[in-house]
Amino acid sequence: MIEDQALWTIVFFFLGAIIGSFLNVCIVRLPHGKSVVFPSSHCLKCQKNIAWYDNIPLLSYLFLFGKCRNCKAAISFRYFFVELITALSFLLFYQYFGFQIVLLPYLVMLCGFIVATFVDFEHRIIPDEVSMGGAVVGFVFSLFIPQLHGQDAFWKGGLWSLIGLLAGGGSIYVMGLLGNVIIPRSRRHLDEILKEEFFQVMQPLSKERFDGLWKELERCGYLVDKGEIGNVLPSFWEVKRAEDLKFGADFAGLQKKVYKLLRMDTMGGGDVKLMAMVGAFMGWKLALLSFFLAPFFGAIYGMIEKLRTKESTIAYGPFLVLGALISLFKGGEIIRWIASSYGIPY
Ligand SMILES: [Zn+2]
Repeated sequence: MIEDQALWTIVFFFLGAIIGSFLNVCIVRLPHGKSVVFPSSHCLKCQKNIAWYDNIPLLSYLFLFGKCRNCKAAISFRYFFVELITALSFLLFYQYFGFQIVLLPYLVMLCGFIVATFVDFEHRIIPDEVSMGGAVVGFVFSLFIPQLHGQDAFWKGGLWSLIGLLAGGGSIYVMGLLGNVIIPRSRRHLDEILKEEFFQVMQPLSKERFDGLWKELERCGYLVDKGEIGNVLPSFWEVKRAEDLKFGADFAGLQKKVYKLLRMDTMGGGDVKLMAMVGAFMGWKLALLSFFLAPFFGAIYGMIEKLRTKESTIAYGPFLVLGALISLFKGGEIIRWIASSYGIPY
């Protein structure tokens, strides 16, 4: 049996590496709304298709010294890193959960976490395919594997998954609403002051070009009159991809900058959907615990980043993922510990 376990450990490591290779494709393509199936893998620089023997997880990167065989362009280390992380996580999940039936849904959730983390760090977005798709998949898994929620019946698994989904998404959503009230920044009127600030951020940009951009934003419906609140930038929650901002050709080059600015003010909707996914898989208790754990790590990282880059916004998704993973492995113990320190039986 010992040999069996060693064998399976190796199997899960390589399975993870292979799946990690696919996750790399998702990480590169999903933020641009591209298919993850077609076309097949090609060099981003010279566009040449990558032969199967140059596409072997982990090994090819090492054999090619991280360079394209054809044009010798450097291949991002991230490819190797994602494959390694996925391989090691699969190994870890197998060792922790063994062949319990919950292993499968947890591995699927893990894949979503990995894609969300890397995309969010790079683009400050979490693809809907991962978050909303993940929430639906978590719900369906819960119907057929109610053990995810410590239940034994189809409908009970679904019910607890739904409650988890609402609790997870709701926690971040409410925090976003509170943030909008507490942090006036998020609800500033689009008066001349904001316009002026917007102008400053868009430097170097001539006044004429800025006025043109402003009109373009209005035309695109990104500046909407919300009655008595005044004009607010409404679209933080709607703008999913930089590509969704469809400016005329004149301003195409500015899309990314505007997009970043639009995203600056509030917790993105992506985080809400990501936490809905966490709740759908893990239930409301562990989802809420993840929600409370995330800021500890997020705050530390945020402070470091602020010192390093003077940027005051961070990708929050990766820290929700970190909170969720800690909850998954240690959540029961943490909740028991908190409960017992308040004398609540649990
Ligand atoms: Zn190449």
